[in-house]
Amino acid sequence: MKTLKVALLGCGNVGSQVARILLDDAEDLASRTGARLELTGIAVRNPDAPRDVDLPKDLFTTDAEKLAENADIVIELMGGMEPARTLMLHAIGHGASVVTGNKALLAADGAALFEKADAAGVRLAYEAAVAGAIPILRPIRDSLSGDRITRVLGIVNGTTNYILDAMDTTGAQFDDALAEAQRLGYAEADPTADVEGHDAAAKGAILASLAFHTTFDLANVSCEGISAVTADDISAAKEAGFVIKLLAIAEKLENDGEPGVSVRVHPTLLPRTHPLAAVHGAFNAVFVEAENAGELMFYGQGAGGAPTASAVMGDVVSAARRLVLGGPLGAETPTGHVPALPFEKVTTSYSIGLEVTDQPGVLAAVARVFAENGVSIETMRQTIHSDGAGTAAELRFVTHRASEAALAATVEAIKGLDVINSVTSVLRVEGV
Ligand code: NAP
Repeated sequence: MKTLKVALLGCGNVGSQVARILLDDAEDLASRTGARLELTGIAVRNPDAPRDVDLPKDLFTTDAEKLAENADIVIELMGGMEPARTLMLHAIGHGASVVTGNKALLAADGAALFEKADAAGVRLAYEAAVAGAIPILRPIRDSLSGDRITRVLGIVNGTTNYILDAMDTTGAQFDDALAEAQRLGYAEADPTADVEGHDAAAKGAILASLAFHTTFDLANVSCEGISAVTADDISAAKEAGFVIKLLAIAEKLENDGEPGVSVRVHPTLLPRTHPLAAVHGAFNAVFVEAENAGELMFYGQGAGGAPTASAVMGDVVSAARRLVLGGPLGAETPTGHVPALPFEKVTTSYSIGLEVTDQPGVLAAVARVFAENGVSIETMRQTIHSDGAGTAAELRFVTHRASEAALAATVEAIKGLDVINSVTSVLRVEGV
């Protein structure tokens, strides 16, 4: 039986679990791939640091470069831009297949890396980069390659789903739900990349590139996080039969008769009956709409050492099989560049909350502004509240689909009305 040398770069949450599987399941892996997978070394910063898994000390090294150039398969699980990028290029240059879970690097510089891998005739696989354990990239790339995907909606960040779900079930404010998520280890001490949507944006760009056979630049993702979502937004959504989720949405739309791809990340109102509304806690799910397959949903753990290692190992096994049996590269299949759709041309439905003075004619004045900007109203709810200072009303509108440009103009004009105390929220709505 052939032996394939496997080098592991990084031994943190995911890398340590990958090392465990490679060592503990060696026999199974050999029978599935037709080759012995020999773990030749593990590159880390500090070889003496304690590890989650008990691993032979002599496997550890700080010389990642040397390890990478003497392997058939290199697994990059260091994270970050450098030295991960240089090491991956080094491995490709030495003819190794590369497996990674590094969404940040792929979203920022994937096109160049894929080009190098293609030119070298080696595979660059990254199932773990989007939605952890969920096998979503291979179905999009392979199983659905005979169909036409129209839209992908993803809950692809477990931290934000945990926070929004906690706010929905307990009525907590954002800061309290975030503090609890940090206490339980679902959010990092610096939660910016998660709560501001940057992590979901990188995954959205990767999903769009695969789903629409193009290269989608991370700089074109419009991104709004969840830090401005209030307990009032959540409870108003609940009363109206909605739940708020942070979605990464990738769609192919027409722009003046030409196709354009839009990727956006924002808090989104979803009907509580939508399949994505049932995704609780830190779980992830990706909802795919395709012309012939219809609606599909992929659900599972979006992070964690062992779940993510499962996705990494799937790529390792398929790279090993190819090295044993030969076969196609399984590379990306861009069929041409589809331009990014400018954000202001994107159309969706909106929910707009207004605090207004309780007096006759308010509703008519607001409705006129909507009409003047070509935004039509689907539903309106009014709540009156009184206190010592007087009576005020809260109005919540849900609109039909309108462009971001029309919405922005509407909100600006509404703010200028005398009868408006404040615009309390503007949230996009999907699934209606
Ligand atoms: P992690 O726990 O921070 O581990 C990183 C590992 O890389 C550590 O072992 C570290 O060595 C090593 N490392 C970092 N910089 C290095 C350098 N300059 N030279 C040598 N070694 C270096 O990371 P992780 O959570 O396992 O994530 C790994 C990758 O998987 C990332 O790209 C991440 O985005 C992706 N991913 C993670 C998850 C998840 O649930 N964690 C899910 C999906 C995808 P030391 O231990 O010596 O410091």
